[in-house]
Amino acid sequence: MSLTYEEFKQRADRVRAQIAEACARAGRDPGAVELLAVTKTHPATAAAHAARYGLRAVGENRVQEGVEKRAQCPAAIAWELIGHLQSNKARLAAAHFDRIQSVDSVKLLNHLDRAAGELGKVLPILLQINAGNDPAKFGAEPEAAPALLEAALRCGHLRVDGLMTIAPLSDDPAVAERTFANLREIRDRLAAQSGTPLRELSMGMTGDMAAAIAAGSTIVRVGTALFGTREAV
Ligand SMILES: *Cc1c(COP(=O)(O)O)cnc(C)c1O
Repeated sequence: MSLTYEEFKQRADRVRAQIAEACARAGRDPGAVELLAVTKTHPATAAAHAARYGLRAVGENRVQEGVEKRAQCPAAIAWELIGHLQSNKARLAAAHFDRIQSVDSVKLLNHLDRAAGELGKVLPILLQINAGNDPAKFGAEPEAAPALLEAALRCGHLRVDGLMTIAPLSDDPAVAERTFANLREIRDRLAAQSGTPLRELSMGMTGDMAAAIAAGSTIVRVGTALFGTREAV
């Protein structure tokens, strides 16, 4: 099932209005929150719609799927990896993605740094932190974040733009709120300690976007609200 551009545009306009509303409530500039269109499980036309609408980037959570889709979508748009990355796929990911949001171990940092060096590029990354202490989620534990950042800053072919998290699945909205506040605190502390701005806070999805924006999110990763529900994968 793929959406027409007109259908997509209606959905995207609605999501943008929700972002603007959440920003207004939080006293934030709506221009400070980027809408990242999550195209996973959707066809390459989804990325083409996002490009035509003027979005900067799309997010994919599997390397192979992103690589294939990007080859089918000539539109000028950036591709970001938001799903778990295994070290043995670091090279492929470094070659085909414009930013990796899911970097959560020193081992992965080293693989990506080496691959980016061989490719002759500087690869932007975010460090994924398990800010909700969710046993079911990937991401470095908050206690490990300072050492992970230190290691990342030593990698000459990586550029650390900020932090990313996924809130635990819960019926209680306070769980997501706590997770996002925690990531923000971790960011503020790490930025002060390291003297690196760590500007980006990638947090918030379809169901918890407003809470993330209230806590300072600069990138919301939205799939369902833009493209409809996904088939179970
Ligand atoms: C799928 C996914 C999203 C988007 O989720 P929706 O609820 O469909 O908006 C955001 N972030 C990550 C890491 C994802 O895997």
